Amino acid sequence: MPAPTRHDDWIAATLADLRAQGLLRTLRHCGPPGVTVRVGGRELLHLASNNYLDLARHPRVIEAAREAVGAWGWGSGASQLISGFTELHEALRAALCAFEHAEDAVLFPTGYQANLGAITALADKGDVVILDKLCHASIVDGARLSGAEVRAFPHNNVARLRALLGKYPNRRVLVAVDTVYSMDGDLAPLPDLVAACTEHRALLLVDEAHATGVLGASGRGACERFGLCASGEPEGPLLRLGTLSKALGGIGGFVVGSAARCDLLRNRARAAIYTTALPPAAAAAAVAALDVVREEPERRRRVLALAGRLRRELRARGWNVPEGETPVLPLIVGAAEATLDLSRRLLEAGILAPAIRPPTVPPGTSRLRISLTAAHNERHLDRLLEALGPGPGLDPDPVGGGGPGGGPGHDPAGARR
Ligand SMILES: *Cc1c(COP(=O)(O)O)cnc(C)c1O
Repeated sequence: MPAPTRHDDWIAATLADLRAQGLLRTLRHCGPPGVTVRVGGRELLHLASNNYLDLARHPRVIEAAREAVGAWGWGSGASQLISGFTELHEALRAALCAFEHAEDAVLFPTGYQANLGAITALADKGDVVILDKLCHASIVDGARLSGAEVRAFPHNNVARLRALLGKYPNRRVLVAVDTVYSMDGDLAPLPDLVAACTEHRALLLVDEAHATGVLGASGRGACERFGLCASGEPEGPLLRLGTLSKALGGIGGFVVGSAARCDLLRNRARAAIYTTALPPAAAAAAVAALDVVREEPERRRRVLALAGRLRRELRARGWNVPEGETPVLPLIVGAAEATLDLSRRLLEAGILAPAIRPPTVPPGTSRLRISLTAAHNERHLDRLLEALGPGPGLDPDPVGGGGPGGGPGHDPAGARR
């Protein structure tokens, strides 16, 4: 028997350490995503997907994919610039331009790669990338990989961003943020970010992953919600990025913007150049999903209304859930072990609401991440509320000034970070 490598010793120690801290993650074997999901033979109320508009199994999306597989087969066979960009990819590019009111669009195999590709294409050694502290891992990874100087500002703190921007008057600066923060469900202050970047001639990459299809009058996302991407307006500092894998129910990432910006990405984004193009059927499914978003606005209205009611009711029951206007509700517990216990208690009641722990969120802010879809209804919310019972901030005996809105565990600003 050869001796284990030094890596194997390190792997065993690292896993033991994660296990001891209650941070070891394992895979669940899940059935198809819907309002319920089968896990280990049990059908659970599904509060753990990003399938916000319930499009992953929409008949029109399925039919578009099925038809495309019949005609085109499964794989695209090559990268986009070689021969993998088919007529179906071009149809998706055009559909994204129409949906987003943009001049051009660039496709990536995933949203993760869209961030990696866009940031490394737009920032080099000598440039500066400035991030919100809570932005998605793919933005952080892209920034690190770019070789640029990486700086971060406290979450949504535009004054601190301005201070950083002021330090680099002669450098090319890329600012990158999420528009909806995936683990908090809160919005970026986009108008202020745009103003700061405009003033300092910085480019602002905004990741609409959790907003595309969900926010804005026509579902274009948080930029539309803030009136920032009206048709025909100059795009200014704003460069918009999204994913096809959340509300649109499929797979793939994209960036929309001017033809020049998109040409640059097509020529410099290694995460799109050196990887196989999306399956043509994935492109066809995304076109169908965009059609549904346009034709069935009631889907986004429904999921937002449900989220509004759940947020109100959880807060009234003393749970630490920050205000918000998205289908992502963080129920903040604090300690990792206590969060896991609550998640397990819900699992016993037939509800899947995952515990999110460090390093995904800062230590001491472990939480249940509850996400709703257009397929949920009032009865599902009632089931969750009943299984949770009263929260830690609800003083059963309100003498002494406790009660909803008081008490420990009900201080979103203080308890979160
Ligand atoms: C999920 C997510 C991504 C990655 O998108 P995929 O298509 O799943 O790779 C990127 N950015 C944010 C903010 C996300 O939440």
